[in-house]
Amino acid sequence: MQPIYLDNQATTPIAPEVVDAMLPWLRDNFGNPHSPHLMGRQAAAAVEVAREQVAGLLPRAGRVIFTGSATEALNLAMGAVRTHQGRNQIAVLDTEHAAVRDTALWYRTQGFETRLLRVDQTGLVDLDDLEACLDEQTALVGAMLVNNEIGTIQPVDQIADIAHRYGALMLCDVVQGFGRIDIPQQADLIALSGHKIYGPKGIGALWVRDGVDLPPLIHGGGQEQGIRSGTLSPALCVGLGRAAKLCADRRKEDMAHVTKLAETGHSLFADWTVNGSLGQRYAGNLNIRRDGLDVARLMSDVRGVAFSAGSACASGSGRPSHVLSALGLEPAQIKSSIRLGFGRYNSIEEVEQAAALINQAAENQLS
Ligand code: PLP
Repeated sequence: MQPIYLDNQATTPIAPEVVDAMLPWLRDNFGNPHSPHLMGRQAAAAVEVAREQVAGLLPRAGRVIFTGSATEALNLAMGAVRTHQGRNQIAVLDTEHAAVRDTALWYRTQGFETRLLRVDQTGLVDLDDLEACLDEQTALVGAMLVNNEIGTIQPVDQIADIAHRYGALMLCDVVQGFGRIDIPQQADLIALSGHKIYGPKGIGALWVRDGVDLPPLIHGGGQEQGIRSGTLSPALCVGLGRAAKLCADRRKEDMAHVTKLAETGHSLFADWTVNGSLGQRYAGNLNIRRDGLDVARLMSDVRGVAFSAGSACASGSGRPSHVLSALGLEPAQIKSSIRLGFGRYNSIEEVEQAAALINQAAENQLS
């Protein structure tokens, strides 16, 4: 039997409509989208429709570049520090995903000065700390829209305004918010991923504001406007485009559904403490802790539910959650935290059953 899937921040199930849209491009239409003949042109046209579908959810004055993942899109975006007015400083939130945080720290080894910006105990950026950290050497400020571990929604446009006052570029990782909540209009670089929006794995995209100069990360045949070489997969592009369009079409419905699931979750886990902001939070994320709980044991006791202990992205790394640490939680509190992620295909009954299983296992441990 399949477990109840409550790990929608790690990845989402693929939407049936997306599978249907992709299949012809996997099975029948195998043309290379960069070939000049008819089959190639048909594939290229499908890629361009997908690009428009993704662009439809993003600010206007920019272009969409397909990549193999959001991690690649973020690495590509951060290359902008090499060409931005000879500046040598990077500032990113301490709670960024490893794709940004670790990349920013890697730039230190390349002679850049990297600053990690503080957040408060709810995970929200400290705007005074931000102001204090920036100067005329700042090339790039990075702040994500929705945190993947705690769901906190940052005031990205406000952060971007401050970054721009210092002449810096603003990078926003919208992976967990794309297709669900409003996308910041002031960012200069925006990264997203297919497999978090009921689309396929193995594709992401970077939106680049017109006028922003970006050195290529991958060199070769000059595809993707010379910035990201390599043959595109029409099936993956079509899948991402269809998934984005579906999110846009269903946005109200999806949000109402996830909000109901979250209300059920909050009431059934009322004995637990919520990590992160309650007010500025994406409803599909519930990160909670219970003092004294051994989460590794809880996870092996509750095999019928797929959920996460901290960030699934960092799982296997053995590292304690840098996000929960940044909120000021003690190591024991971090180890007693779990993350539940609600999505489009979950039902209220599933949340109720999962809560009963998790609460029972927690009681057994603590009593
Ligand atoms: N950014 C955030 C907020 C994420 O949650 C993830 C994946 O978990 C990523 C970036 C990386 O996305 P991808 O798996 O497409 O590389």
